[in-house]
Parts: sequence; C-alpha cells; structure tokens
Amino acid sequence: MHRHDRSTEVLTQAVIRYAIERTRLDPPPLDGPRTAAELHAMVGTTISSRGMGGLEALRVFADVLAPACISVDHPRFWSFVPTAPTEAAILFDLVVGASAIYGGSWMEGAGAVFAENQALRWIADLAGFPPGAGGVFVPGGTYGNLSALTAARERWRGRTGDDRRAVIVCSSGAHSSLKSAAKVMDAEVVMVAADVAGRMTGAALRAAIADAPAAITERVCAIVATSGTTNAGVIDDLTAAADVAAELNAWFHVDGAYGAAALAAPSVRSQFIGVERADSLIVDPHKWLFAPYDCCALIYRDPLEARAALSQHAEYLDVLQADENEWNPSDFAFGLTRRARGLPFWFSLAAHGTAAYTDAIEASLTLTRETTALIATIPELEVVGEPELSVVMFRRLGWQPADYYAWSARLLADGTAFVTPTSWNGETILRLCFVNPRSTLDDVRETLATLG
Ligand SMILES: *Cc1c(COP(=O)(O)O)cnc(C)c1O
Repeated sequence: MHRHDRSTEVLTQAVIRYAIERTRLDPPPLDGPRTAAELHAMVGTTISSRGMGGLEALRVFADVLAPACISVDHPRFWSFVPTAPTEAAILFDLVVGASAIYGGSWMEGAGAVFAENQALRWIADLAGFPPGAGGVFVPGGTYGNLSALTAARERWRGRTGDDRRAVIVCSSGAHSSLKSAAKVMDAEVVMVAADVAGRMTGAALRAAIADAPAAITERVCAIVATSGTTNAGVIDDLTAAADVAAELNAWFHVDGAYGAAALAAPSVRSQFIGVERADSLIVDPHKWLFAPYDCCALIYRDPLEARAALSQHAEYLDVLQADENEWNPSDFAFGLTRRARGLPFWFSLAAHGTAAYTDAIEASLTLTRETTALIATIPELEVVGEPELSVVMFRRLGWQPADYYAWSARLLADGTAFVTPTSWNGETILRLCFVNPRSTLDDVRETLATLG
C-alpha cells in the first residue's frame, strides 16, 4: 500500500477531485447529524482484514459520513463560532498533509517554521507586541490558554518560591477552556462577575481583588481578559486588566481566540487598547482568520519565559537544543510533535495579502451592524445588548425556551440555517455569530422571516 500503482493513481485522482469539488461548493449543503445506529445501518462495519478498497471507502465517506457532518463553513451557520477557510488555505492544508513536515523543531522544519513565524509576526504587530515577541501555532484556544497559563504559573512560582496552588483571575464571561486549563494545572480560579453586557470592567476586577483575602491575592499568577467573549462578543477592559496584573506582579493573558482577529479591522481596533501590554495573546485563525481546523496562534511578549516553562528535555532531544538561536516551536506550548498547522493560514495570508483579511473581517462587522438595524424593524424581535464585534444576541418576544429549540431544530432539518439558542442571564435567547464573508443580509433576512 506504500507503492504507487494504477489503483493508487485512480484513488489519488478521485480524492483530489473530491477535495476540489467540496472546496468549490458555494454554498455547501448544510447537512446534519445522524445517530450511530442510523450510520451503522447505512455503512455497517468499515474495517476488515482485507479492506473495502479506496474508492469504496471514499464513496462511503462522500455519500454517508460527510453528509452526517454539519458544514461549519455554510454561510448560514451562525451558531457557536463558525469557520470560513479560504480556498487557498484549504488546498494548502492538503499540501501540508502531503509534505511530512515535522513542525516541532527548527532542525527538521526550518522552512515551515520560518513561514509560520512570519504569520505570527503579523498578528504580533497588529497587537503592538515588541520585536522579540513570538510563539507557536497550537491546535486550539484551549491548548493556547493552557500553555500561556502554565508559563504564567511557572513565572510566579519561580519568582515567589510559593508551592501552594496558583490562582487565575478571569471573568464569568470568559470561555470554559480557562476553567478546564485551571483544572489540568490544579490552579484555582477567581471569577470576576461580568457586567450586564458580559464585560469584565476595571471596577469589578478591582473589587474582586480587594475583596479577596491576602491568602488568595498573593497567589495570583495571571489575570486573564477576553477580547471578544464567545457568547456576547464583547471585550473586557484590557487596560484595567493590564494595570491590575502589573500591581499584583502577575502575568497578563488576553484570550482573543474568537475576537482578536478584529485587531485587523480599523473600525473596531480602538476597542482593543491595552492588548499591547499583554504577556501572552491567543487568536484562533480557524475562527475568524479564514484557516481550516485546527489552528490557534499563541504569542508571548517574552518567549524565553514560555520556553523555560514548557520546553521538554531528554537525551534524544538535546540535539535540537544545540543552537540557542534556533526557534523550536514545541518549546512554547504543551506538546512535542506538531503539524505545521500555521502553514495553511500563512499561505493564504501570503497569497492574498493582509488588506484582503481586513476587508473580509470588516464584512462581518458590517453585516452585524446591518443585522442589528434589521432586527430593530421587526416588532417580534429585540436585540439584547449592543454588538461590539460580530455577535448579535436577540430575543423573540413571547417565546419560551421550547419554542427556540423547536425552531432551531426545524431550521437545521430544513437545511435553511444553523442557529442554536444560547442563554443570557438565565434567559433563553438567540445568537448569531458572523465570521463568514459569504453570509449576506438576504441570508439573515430569510432566516429571521421564519421567526414570525
Ligand atoms: C473558541 C474559544 C476558545 C477555545 O478555543 P478552541 O479552539 O475551541 O479550543 C477559547 N476562548 C474563546 C474566547 C473562544 O471563543
């Protein structure tokens, strides 16, 4: 099966043709899940000692398995945070897969790491980080947050010698991955109550610190601010978070997994003031920077601090560490072997130029504003909070939670759109998250028309 012959040639053509055709579907079918029992009835057991043949496996995937996966890049997928990879990024992902690049070390992956680092530099410059900043592409924001907070904890422990549990301060509007990271690290979380808009204000952060006993505040290793909360798309008071972190001698981490893409959007850039003071920042190119899954950019102000915390050492790895000046991506995150997962993002960015990214991000911000204005004209609907980035939350007056869930399920079953309810201060409401430049106001209008 490692030799290229006529049948692998046929398979190659078929697989490449499938990939190209899927990439060009505009729009792709929305599709939707099936139960394991249904899938089993349709495909049976696919693994056998003799194999079913590549063309048959491809047919099973194309006819049954792929349609049982929602197309997250569908222009009417507005749940959670969608994805909208460019054609260039998707196709280059195939190239990365074909190239057997080990992205963990400079020695093995110099060319790839060099390119990834230029893409990271673009983000670092948008954030206003110093020339020495740098980092690594990791699988997702969850890994990015964990790695950054581990570096924060190690710095605190190294400075204080304190062997108690570290404390991480974040907002009740922060992403669930922060609590998950704290659990993995066996750290404690101090949760600052977000304001009615879902934002962590400087006043609330200061009050939480002032109210906490010294036994807590002296263990604070990191203050985390979110620049674009997942539910509401709002940005915490980054300047206040930076100030409080400085006062406590703590690390300042900015979780921009969803929202920091908008650093490239002039119309909202001023909302991010303070991000330039962060010790670390994450942003997921697989969310609003048009890269395929999975890709999170993790950038440190001082990468050496991260390296001290996260680098792995062993007899068989020392050869990789021989040259101090070589950039080994695996030094900067939890994990060793890595796919050069920043390359599809780099390729598309290099090919299209950063101005195209700015335009594509602004398109979603414009659609957000237009949608907010449209909702204001529909009597049964009411916007909840003023959108700051590309999330619109709104309620359907008179609806109970069951109405929202039934509507959402019907919409998906019809292949119209994918909009899941969320909850906001205990109330079930609707939420649209825009990252796809192919989504239009007509898409929104037709979808909202089904709420009558
Ligand atoms: C999506 C998200 C995460 C988690 O990122 P994954 O890539 O899903 O692991 C973390 N923080 C915020 C603010 C997010 O929106």
